[in-house]
Amino acid sequence: MTDPKPERSSAALRVRALETRLLDIPLVRPHRFSVTTMHTQGVLLIRLVTEDGTVGWGEGVVPGGPWWGGESVEGMAALVERHLAPLVIGQDVLRPEALARRLESMAAGAPFARAGVEMAVWDAAGRALGVPVHQLLGGILRNRLPVTWALGSEAPDVAVEEARRLLAEGRHRSFKLKMGALAVEEDVARVSAIADALDGAAPLSVDLNGAWDEYTARRWLPALAEAGIRMAEQPIPAAHVSGLARLREQVPIALMADESLRTPADALRLAAAHAVDVVAIKIGKSGGLSAVRRIADVAEAAGLGCYGGTAIETSLGTAASAHLFCATAAVSSGTELFGPLLLEDDIVTAPVTYQKGELLLPSGPGFGMTIDEEKVAKYERR
Ligand code: MG
Repeated sequence: MTDPKPERSSAALRVRALETRLLDIPLVRPHRFSVTTMHTQGVLLIRLVTEDGTVGWGEGVVPGGPWWGGESVEGMAALVERHLAPLVIGQDVLRPEALARRLESMAAGAPFARAGVEMAVWDAAGRALGVPVHQLLGGILRNRLPVTWALGSEAPDVAVEEARRLLAEGRHRSFKLKMGALAVEEDVARVSAIADALDGAAPLSVDLNGAWDEYTARRWLPALAEAGIRMAEQPIPAAHVSGLARLREQVPIALMADESLRTPADALRLAAAHAVDVVAIKIGKSGGLSAVRRIADVAEAAGLGCYGGTAIETSLGTAASAHLFCATAAVSSGTELFGPLLLEDDIVTAPVTYQKGELLLPSGPGFGMTIDEEKVAKYERR
């Protein structure tokens, strides 16, 4: 295939340099998953500069370590500096789609690292043209996104107190409970107690991060449905697509795929198997905005709802998700873009804004975020 001649290719917009910095940002409270607890979030901050001095920013984050997908911020730093930066240097930032595919073909796996680099390319493209990234993606279909709050694997009284406070303050309208850190019966009792105490005040879902096997899910998901839980995210491991399909027939609760959906081919497989009702889409796990668009197209064609997921990004990565999700019709099932609210501090001068349980789409060129150098220096790992 010959390279198409781009409409506007100038030497000025070729990438001159790409640098990374490793940050650690404390959380407002520990965030407990089935297998690990986060106290700080590592962020690989990526700065891209073009020949004419246009700067684009991206971030690589994973949800608290390599347990989710094998990548870590430390591993990403090495991969980006040693292998991905040379693939991007000399390339035109106005061709993010071509750059995404170049990264995809030259770095197998490593989606979170590729996503961070691709994010910097989109940001630079928007800044170079003086337009927000959502315009490069076809323009907005919405300008705000509902944001669910994750309650972590807390004890019932702690979780209920937190949920009641957030509801009273009008900050969130729905909650997701992390499960899988406790013995099954104890965990189901804990979630049922929370649902009981909240008594329908807000829609509740659970995320098991693949902690159960199919039998356990068949046995216990009905109890969660009975307690009023509306949706179960990834109850069984990522590879068990046929198991998800059987559960979907057998249990009276909506199912969402997260770990089972990383690539467009995964989306097609889940759709063909009628395995789930909703899929969680995330820039990080799928290697960038470009791949998420392809996934969303498959999901939309298959009639699957898309839920905008998070790997607990700062305002930078959250803004990138907001631009993408506001410009993607299939994102009809809400989001969990609460990263900046779980972090004690941010790395931009004006963090993203939340209003009555919704994230507002930031304005301005690129992702509309300005990096705060003082904050970056404060949280940089030494
Ligand atoms: Mg999940």
